[in-house]
Amino acid sequence: MNTMMAAHPPAPARHRGIAEDGIAAYIAETVPVDSLVADGYLAGHDGRLIAHQLRAPQLRQAMNSSVCHAVQPDVDSFFQEDGEPDADWKQRRTRTVRDHCTVCPVRAACAELALRDGDTAGVRGGLDPQKLDRRLAAESSRLQRARAADEQAGEEQRARFAAGAEVLQLTGQYLGTGTPQKRRENVAKFREAARRRDELVAAHRRSAGWTAAA
Ligand code: SF4
Repeated sequence: MNTMMAAHPPAPARHRGIAEDGIAAYIAETVPVDSLVADGYLAGHDGRLIAHQLRAPQLRQAMNSSVCHAVQPDVDSFFQEDGEPDADWKQRRTRTVRDHCTVCPVRAACAELALRDGDTAGVRGGLDPQKLDRRLAAESSRLQRARAADEQAGEEQRARFAAGAEVLQLTGQYLGTGTPQKRRENVAKFREAARRRDELVAAHRRSAGWTAAA
């Protein structure tokens, strides 16, 4: 597991516990999320580096394979109760991590999502709130960049959907109607909309590691 070799990264990769950011980025860009989960990439140390590279919707997709999603444990076991002595909470959270997080196939994605969301109130990804807060502070610059990239990816996706919807609308409503002059205008509009859509889709595929022709 987590050998970082299945996606044929551009550098020697079978080193347990060693994962260059470039290799992690390559794997995150080229391996579908479901395969990352199935191959155990989002569980261990390497998983942390790969999770850094995933966009928020991919992290949320991975959470569909989490222990919390599968068995829906008692939510209270992940949070310190009001007035609960720290020693009691420590015992409870140790049990929670042992029984759930250590066997969770996506704990790296879970921790990363908590940090991306600034959600450090309870146990996430096998980490208690204090450890999450320490990572939140130590990795603030990286997280800021990741959140900006999430936002940009969201905007690009919305633009692709809008461009596709415009093409569909023009196809369905206007192409065969009106005078010859009007039809020529409609065809020109349709071609321009299709060109915009194809450009956006091609840019997205390139950014995801696909070739333009793939
Ligand atoms: S890592 Fe822990 S908190 Fe996160 S989904 Fe898995 S079991 Fe739940």
